[in-house]
Amino acid sequence: MPRIRQQNVLAAQWAPNGGALGAPDLTVPDNQIFGSNVFSPTVQRQRLPRDVFRKLQQTLGRGEALDTSLADAVALAMKEWALENGATHYTHWFQPLTGSTAEKHDSFYAPTGEGTALAQFSGKELIQGEPDASSFPTGGIRATFEARGYTAWDPTSPAFILENPNGAVLCIPTAFASWTGEALDHKIPLLRSMDALSKSAIRALRLFGDSSSQRVFTTVGPEQEYFLIDQQYYFERPDLITTGRTLFGAKPPKGHELDDHYFGSIPERILAYMLDTERELAKLGIPIKTRHNEVAPNQYEIAPIFESTNVGSDHQQLTMQVMQNVARRYGLICLLHEKPFAGVNGSGKHNNWSMGTDTGKNLLDPGDTPHDNLEFLFFCAAVIQAANKHQGLLRASIASAGQDHRLGANEAPPAIISIFLGAELVKVFGAIERGEAGESTPESFLGLGTPVLPPLPLHGGDRNRTSPFAFTGNKFEFRALGSSMSLSLPNTVLNTIVAEAIDYLAEELEDELEKGKDLEAALRPILQRSYAANKQIVFEGDNYSDEWHVEAERRGLLNLRATPDALPYLVSDDTETLFSNYAVFSPRELEARYEVFLEQYVTKLNIEAETAASIARTMLLPAAARHLGMLLEAQLGELAAETSELIGEFSDAIRALESANLAENQPHDELLAHAAYMRDEVVPAMEQTRACADRLERVVADDLWPLPKYAEILFIK
Ligand code: ADP
Ligand code: MG
Repeated sequence: MPRIRQQNVLAAQWAPNGGALGAPDLTVPDNQIFGSNVFSPTVQRQRLPRDVFRKLQQTLGRGEALDTSLADAVALAMKEWALENGATHYTHWFQPLTGSTAEKHDSFYAPTGEGTALAQFSGKELIQGEPDASSFPTGGIRATFEARGYTAWDPTSPAFILENPNGAVLCIPTAFASWTGEALDHKIPLLRSMDALSKSAIRALRLFGDSSSQRVFTTVGPEQEYFLIDQQYYFERPDLITTGRTLFGAKPPKGHELDDHYFGSIPERILAYMLDTERELAKLGIPIKTRHNEVAPNQYEIAPIFESTNVGSDHQQLTMQVMQNVARRYGLICLLHEKPFAGVNGSGKHNNWSMGTDTGKNLLDPGDTPHDNLEFLFFCAAVIQAANKHQGLLRASIASAGQDHRLGANEAPPAIISIFLGAELVKVFGAIERGEAGESTPESFLGLGTPVLPPLPLHGGDRNRTSPFAFTGNKFEFRALGSSMSLSLPNTVLNTIVAEAIDYLAEELEDELEKGKDLEAALRPILQRSYAANKQIVFEGDNYSDEWHVEAERRGLLNLRATPDALPYLVSDDTETLFSNYAVFSPRELEARYEVFLEQYVTKLNIEAETAASIARTMLLPAAARHLGMLLEAQLGELAAETSELIGEFSDAIRALESANLAENQPHDELLAHAAYMRDEVVPAMEQTRACADRLERVVADDLWPLPKYAEILFIK
């Protein structure tokens, strides 16, 4: 075991209440905190003229564009509220294609020319801003058109105030588009996809006799995994600082504390951090529900109560930001990378997803009557059909360099998309498929002998933690998202592919109903055909097993291991047709994303390779050489020979890595070829360098090894 370095133990003696770095203000009672920094409907009602408030709410309820005549009144109320709450600046807060969020701060105060300043903020400034699009990735949209872009307020996501020890900023959630109207962000397509799904779902609901629902909203509740480590270790690791993950590090001794962490008691410093984070999130109106330890040491999870996908996605971006900010108050660093530590469980994000009507009905909840069940089976069948048809696109929507260490690598979930339905649903769909569901009596459901579907377990035994896409009682859980990802793209994809499947099935249903059949008789053959055609995607077994890989291949399912394998599905013919039909992405907008994601993959790996080579050459190799000198001096011939051989291998590996990562050795003409080169040449060269370094770490004198070791980083809390 390595010694624990003294300075780290000191760092771990954190100051309760955050010490000097902004103790949480515990004077405000909890019941007044929730949403206190949000320009919420309650605040709007208090501050807006009544007719303005009413019109604004109507606009939001129908998901329509904001009437610009309201903007000035809303802006005025928002400004006064923000100033009273200590804001000095405002920003249009948006999600560029980098996957993070961007802000451009403007002061509320404009100089009057008489030595004073006036707070100004008009409807025009609320609704529209003009950041320079050229500083954000646009994937070619920028190259052919003007660099300028504009941001437009998204009134469906409430404005909020972000506090800082030295001031506060009013953040206005906005969409980001080019002057030609092309989406340069993740929000616009998400909003478009929610519209698309709403239209399709309403069309289907009408066939089921639902005439009251006007809109269907998709909902999301993300479970976020993360690591907390002492900041001292972070600052001692250039790899963590520049790439967010450790590029070197031998596995800690086997079994060390590994088992008692999961759902173990939470250490005091960590709990203090969590409470503070939840308080900050509460102010922003983000409803946090659960917190607990995760599988790996120093790994935790945080989950909010679900919200409309648009608001939920914005809140998820904010959550990641707040989690990282608050950690610093406790001498901690919050790591959101998908795989910060090799050989230790990585971090993902579970995207719980459903569809709900404005009348409060969850379309993926089986319900209590045979009629509800029919509706449920219809929407459930649509999800199965959608996921099967667009496996590649779903996989592409969660692809990134960080994810490549989890998906399809030696860790779960696999790179194969499959659906877990649970034993009860498999039984029901199986019976329908085999035509066993005959005429039903008034009390029975589809002739299955039960009045309604048995209550499907939300929790407990009937779960499959290895499935990338699981039905969990009243929602689907897309479990393959990376921990650092924005929710927007995977949900845009989910919404649109399900909209398409709903339309497909609704059209069939309309045809059957026109023949004069009753609903149940009309639906039965449709469900039968759809399930039979798509059940290859349904898998109830262990997704991590080797047998599944063989079986999946036999079924003809896609197994897209690395990012360059998956991304082409973003621009496949099926994908282009899908998104064009639903006006979610134009082919150009898709192509732009494809390029940006490929570019990000290449750039990330370039940076990782350069960092790895530099650490190896300037930190690790010298340490190993010093160690060798010591062995030689002590005349430990055999050990010296062993070490010398290892050092030889290591220096060969370093030179191979440096050469693989040389710009002139890489194909630059075509992005996909470049990405494939990174996957096939640079990644293996990094792995080889790491393998040598990790062996050296085990033999070089502990006091000479310049990087904190896993056993230190992962077990100090
Ligand atoms: P588990 O860890 O067992 O998967 P959790 O209770 O930690 O479950 O998380 C469940 C998540 O699912 C929560 O974020 C919750 O808000 C979310 N959720 C529940 N119902 C819905 C729904 N209808 N739509 C979207 N998300 C939902
Ligand atoms: Mg879950």
